Amino acid sequence: MAFIDARTLPEATEIEADLILIGGGMASISIAKQWAGVGKSVAILESGGRERDMEVQALYAGGGTMRAPGNPDRNIDSYLVQSRARWYGGSGNVWGGKCVPLDESDFAERDWLERTGWPVTRAEMQPYFNRACDLLQIPRFDRDWDRNPDPERPALPINDNFHASPRVFSALSGEVDGAKFDAFRNDFVEAADNIRVYLHANVTNIRMHRNGRQVSDLEVRCLNGRRHTARGRAYVLATGGIENVRLLLASGGIGNHSDLLGRCFMGHVTFGVYENAEGLNTMLSVGDGRDMSLYVDAGRDKVHCVVATGLEGQRRFNTANFTTTLVGTGNPTSAEDRAVLALAAKLDVNGAAPKQHPCFFMSEHLPNLDSRLTLLPDHVDPLGMPRVYLDWSYSARDLDNLERSIAALGDALGAEGKGRIRWPVARENLLSILNMSRHHIGATRMSADPEHGVVDEHSRIHGVRNLYIAGCSVFPTSGIANPTLTIIAMTMRLSDHLKRDMGVRT
Ligand SMILES: Cc1cc2nc3c(=O)[nH]c(=O)nc-3n(C[C@H](O)[C@H](O)[C@H](O)COP(=O)(O)OP(=O)(O)OC[C@H]3O[C@@H](n4cnc5c(N)ncnc54)[C@H](O)[C@@H]3O)c2cc1C
Repeated sequence: MAFIDARTLPEATEIEADLILIGGGMASISIAKQWAGVGKSVAILESGGRERDMEVQALYAGGGTMRAPGNPDRNIDSYLVQSRARWYGGSGNVWGGKCVPLDESDFAERDWLERTGWPVTRAEMQPYFNRACDLLQIPRFDRDWDRNPDPERPALPINDNFHASPRVFSALSGEVDGAKFDAFRNDFVEAADNIRVYLHANVTNIRMHRNGRQVSDLEVRCLNGRRHTARGRAYVLATGGIENVRLLLASGGIGNHSDLLGRCFMGHVTFGVYENAEGLNTMLSVGDGRDMSLYVDAGRDKVHCVVATGLEGQRRFNTANFTTTLVGTGNPTSAEDRAVLALAAKLDVNGAAPKQHPCFFMSEHLPNLDSRLTLLPDHVDPLGMPRVYLDWSYSARDLDNLERSIAALGDALGAEGKGRIRWPVARENLLSILNMSRHHIGATRMSADPEHGVVDEHSRIHGVRNLYIAGCSVFPTSGIANPTLTIIAMTMRLSDHLKRDMGVRT
């Protein structure tokens, strides 16, 4: 009985548990795993089944526009369905598994940038990052990554302004290793007698107690028409960075006390263009003709080297966080690598044939109030839920940060005669060629001050005693990392808090 199909339950079943997790993605599963066998009952309410089903996936459909000053608007309607996965395991079924913690500057309040600073520091997060790495079966990020591990692959010249920030890959993804991912999402449920997963159980309304300060119960609907109710002592909303907002807005605007619910949505500013040797290319060349170090090689990307701007560098250049990622296909006959070789012949750095690396640049998307999620009240899905509209807006400051960061790295390489950057993109063309991240960050932002946040420092919605949020919608800034490792670290922290609250030993 660990997995239950909610469509087969009698109409108006009352689901009860101590802890109710809404959504069954990586965030929810990470919490549930901490509660296996602890003597409290846990229910996961998941919209989908165990496999992709296009009728369920279509519940994610909505509309969207991407905007940036000086650029024509870009229609992103299809993004709402294509950038996430609505079945048990969530986007964990399809993610790339790339992991890295947010770095110190991501958590810091930076007085040259608006709305930065988390109510928790990077140092306080370290134990939770360790646990997140263990859960994802990757090495911990507690080693000195700046050391050059291989003399045959020299490090990029890194000064005080730039540092290495390598990523590692987890195999716990439905795309990478389906059997391993199945074991990850299923085995603990089968083994624990206190965890039940309700599949095909869509939460469509969070109903508040009449005192307005706590959740009373949840409305649960199935696509075959069945309706149920779920009731718990504490509730964690973990339906992903967009759907968390949609459900709160559709439930009367829970958490919108300071008009921030849905605002400050962030992806990243990400560009990498590898067309051909004569066309648009972002490219970084390094002077000594050898592969670079400070890389990870997990059999996925032969060269995968990430250089980030540190806190001091950001202050000096008046920028936000920024990374350059060098990627190689490892396949010398691929179009990308042939293009690299063709260009390499044209450049000459310090007299040596430079090694050319296709690269992509990622700059932080800063929180701004106009980048937001709203509901489309006249467009409802088959469950009666209003569909969502995404205004993904970059500010002029975001574009400045990207261009200044690229220039600063190029200057640093050039000053040492060790490399150069090719960046042939005009500002007014930026939007049309950028790669869209699938990172849905910030629209239920965290702050200890209710005026500046939807959730408090424990991920609890301000003013609501028993409703918490898990996932990257609580991140106050987007930082410069793929978010999932940090999502999981934050859920470890949340799980400990909930256990203390419910008298469970941690
Ligand atoms: C193609 C792709 C590649 C990616 N690669 C990377 C990567 O390499 N590194 C990285 O860090 N991140 C990556 N990401 C992002 C990463 O997958 C997400 O950050 C992460 O999976 C989010 O987990 P989550 O549990 O917060 O949300 P989700 O994964 O969105 O899970 C939410 C769950 O809630 C369910 N649900 C939704 N609405 C309801 C409802 N009303 N009632 C009940 N259940 C509901 C959904 O079915 C889903 O199972 C990638 C994403 C994609 C799409």
